[in-house]
Amino acid sequence: MPFVMDLRPEGFVPAVRCDQCGELVVAETGLVLWSIDAPLALGGAPVLVVCDRECADALSARYPDAQFAALALDTYLVTLVEDSLEIDAEAVRERDDLAWAIERTRDEVDQALD
Ligand SMILES: [Zn+2]
Repeated sequence: MPFVMDLRPEGFVPAVRCDQCGELVVAETGLVLWSIDAPLALGGAPVLVVCDRECADALSARYPDAQFAALALDTYLVTLVEDSLEIDAEAVRERDDLAWAIERTRDEVDQALD
């Protein structure tokens, strides 16, 4: 599963790890791969994510009978978020900021009552 929560000094943050080498993937070079001959019964082809063309070639070599298509990771994500899921990034950030402010206020009230 390439989508992970990566533990950093500031806490857990969403990140993407390569299905081939396990390293963190960057948007500029990352690729999404899928088998173009995925069974129809699956209703869609599962995707794999790799760091770059080199890892894509290495991963493809592990499945010699499969034919893979590739798309830039940033293209895949923007299309997924904006077109398929219709997520309004600005509205989501505003909602999360509000939820965070409410949580902080609740903690301050709890401390004041203690
Ligand atoms: Zn890799």
